[in-house]
Amino acid sequence: MADGSWYDADIDRVIISEKEIQEKVEELAAEVAADHADVEDGVLLVCVLKGALMFMADFSRALGRIGPSAELEFMAVSSYGHGATSSGVVRILKDLDRDIAGRRVLVVEDIVDSGLTLSWLLRYLESRRAVSVDVVALFRKPDAVKVNVPVRYVGFDLPNEFVVGYGLDYAERYREVPYVGVLRPEVYNRD
Ligand code: 5GP
Ligand code: MG
Ligand code: MG
Repeated sequence: MADGSWYDADIDRVIISEKEIQEKVEELAAEVAADHADVEDGVLLVCVLKGALMFMADFSRALGRIGPSAELEFMAVSSYGHGATSSGVVRILKDLDRDIAGRRVLVVEDIVDSGLTLSWLLRYLESRRAVSVDVVALFRKPDAVKVNVPVRYVGFDLPNEFVVGYGLDYAERYREVPYVGVLRPEVYNRD
């Protein structure tokens, strides 16, 4: 495509534009800042790699301009038996680097679908004696309403379609796409 990026040809439809994402990130940061104005030792942001990396980068900077200070933490987990038979069993590949006892924790999530990994993660963080553990998720899929995972801040409700971009991948690609879109069907049939 003239003046385009390599990925534009692979995207069938843009679901959420770059501008809409950036505006929503500012709104979410304003909400979180208002609810955490009294926090003296800063909030502890926990990003679950890799999908939430873009959101973490933009959200933490938006929060920094208006809200309490933050510490940025990263976790990597792998879930077993994903899909209908998922047991919600999770293995930690990278744990937190510090003690979270007594802290206000905010899990920064890309997308909540079945919510199984998140539900496990919330139990884990609570067992480490955080004062509060809240979730800010940029995207939510329809199935998320069926499970009882408390997501305090939600950016966008998405249709039940597989999307890529803004951190979300298909086979580890498309994470750098600045908007969220649906791939053309041919992309799934390559090699
Ligand atoms: P859950 O445990 O809530 O079913 O799944 C959440 C994880 O599945 C997300 O963090 C994300 O990595 C992945 N996921 C769920 N829906 C989508 C989607 O539409 N596109 C992509 N690329 N990943 C998704
Ligand atoms: Mg995630
Ligand atoms: Mg993925």
